[in-house]
Amino acid sequence: MGKVAVGAAVVCAAAACAVAVVVVRHRMRSSGLWARAAAVVRELEERCATPIGKLRQIADAMTVEMHAGLASEGGSKLKMLLSYVDNLPTGDERGLFYALDLGGTNFRVLRVQLGGKEGRVAKQEYEEVSIPPHLMVGGSHELFDFIASALAQFIASESDDFHLPDGRQRELGFTFSFPVKQSSIASGALIKWTKGFAIDGTVGEDVVAELTRALERQGLDMRVSALVNDTIGTLAGGRYDDNDVVAAVILGTGTNAAYVERAHAIPKWHGLLPKSGEMVINMEWGNFRSSHLPLTDYDQDLDFESLNPGEQIYEKLISGMYLGEIVRRVLLRLAQETSLFGDTVPSKLEVPFILRTPHMSAMHHDTSPDLKVVGAKLKEVLGIPSTSLKTRKMVVGICDIVARRGARLAAAGIYGILKKLGRDSVSTEGGGSKQRTVIAMDGGLYEHYTIFRECLESTLREMLGEAASASIVIKLANDGSGIGAALLAASHSQYLEVEES
Ligand code: ADP
Ligand code: MG
Repeated sequence: MGKVAVGAAVVCAAAACAVAVVVVRHRMRSSGLWARAAAVVRELEERCATPIGKLRQIADAMTVEMHAGLASEGGSKLKMLLSYVDNLPTGDERGLFYALDLGGTNFRVLRVQLGGKEGRVAKQEYEEVSIPPHLMVGGSHELFDFIASALAQFIASESDDFHLPDGRQRELGFTFSFPVKQSSIASGALIKWTKGFAIDGTVGEDVVAELTRALERQGLDMRVSALVNDTIGTLAGGRYDDNDVVAAVILGTGTNAAYVERAHAIPKWHGLLPKSGEMVINMEWGNFRSSHLPLTDYDQDLDFESLNPGEQIYEKLISGMYLGEIVRRVLLRLAQETSLFGDTVPSKLEVPFILRTPHMSAMHHDTSPDLKVVGAKLKEVLGIPSTSLKTRKMVVGICDIVARRGARLAAAGIYGILKKLGRDSVSTEGGGSKQRTVIAMDGGLYEHYTIFRECLESTLREMLGEAASASIVIKLANDGSGIGAALLAASHSQYLEVEES
């Protein structure tokens, strides 16, 4: 071996040494970054913690706010709106009824033939119509004329399976999912348009009167017998199927709850007491807030940058519109501060609301050993080309923290309602026969996000304890069809009094 070879060996060794140094440095840097990333996630977990004691405080705060909202107008963040629904369907309803569901870019018309206790829902049909964008920002007449004309066509296409007795006027339940100040079961003034609708001259007007005039212009002889929102519709549909339903909760894009209150427990109501002694309350619970809610910096920023800062704080912690967005905000911070996704911050990660809750849910439910769904979503949705298994696991962990916090907070809200109703513990009244309590649930988040749903249900059981849990049922009502509004038209029919006497 000559000098040259020795020299080469020395050079090689030096190079190897240099490579080793670089690798070690890189590891040190990346392990430092990992430690930082882990710390960010740990901090998130701590801030989002919802131990049972905290949930009880939140449930108590919900109950207190319910009382305050019932005591006086504007007495609470919870509006506790009177729905004027004092007769929920019993199952005895008979006849042909209609529903119109307006609350988004589509509206739906439905007819249902009710056959009483034996016949139940003998037949039902619906049609969905999308609203041309220009009508969402046009004049009130144009929008209501469009709806009325769709309804007229729907009625013109009715088969003989649906039967309206001679001399009887058609009756409609109107689900109108915008904020309304109701003044009776079938009237209410629009407070404001939301969800992309901006129509001149309807704010402050009675939306039932607007619709009725449009129906007249179409030559349709039809009476609007009930004006309701989707939560009330879900409660009505739930009660029709199960007599023990006392409350309804929607967990979809937004969230809301309604329940049956004793009329004399509503101090702010100065009207006549209904015969049933009951009144359905639309809580508008999305606007609940309490110092006990576990708010993080991510939530504060999300709220601050939202279209309605300071409002709907509870909704921003638990509903489908926001869960994915909270996760995005955490991932963005990790990208910026710990280079979790490489040296540059993926540009899509900076786009608000790009990560939707269904994406989050798909990642969260990924059971493949290499978390390939997580990898694919990060790539497709956020443009992050490749991720290690360790990174993917961290992303799943973040989804878990955010979803569980939302589900547990929703459970605390339901527990608050049960407390208000005095149904949170086993009643020993009446010689031990247990009172059954059913909550009707609806909404895409509850329906499709399995981990969220299971966590909500197990948390409620945890709060209630074993004995009380045994008599409380949470049930998917699935009023997607809007049948609840038609049932309310039936239970508030103008022909009811006549038939009863
Ligand atoms: P809306 O609340 O708009 O009336 P839905 O009740 O159908 O409509 O709920 C839709 C919402 O449900 C979506 O905005 C989304 O947040 C949530 N969602 C839908 N599908 C899923 C899913 N697979 N996983 C998690 N959330 C979902
Ligand atoms: Mg809905």
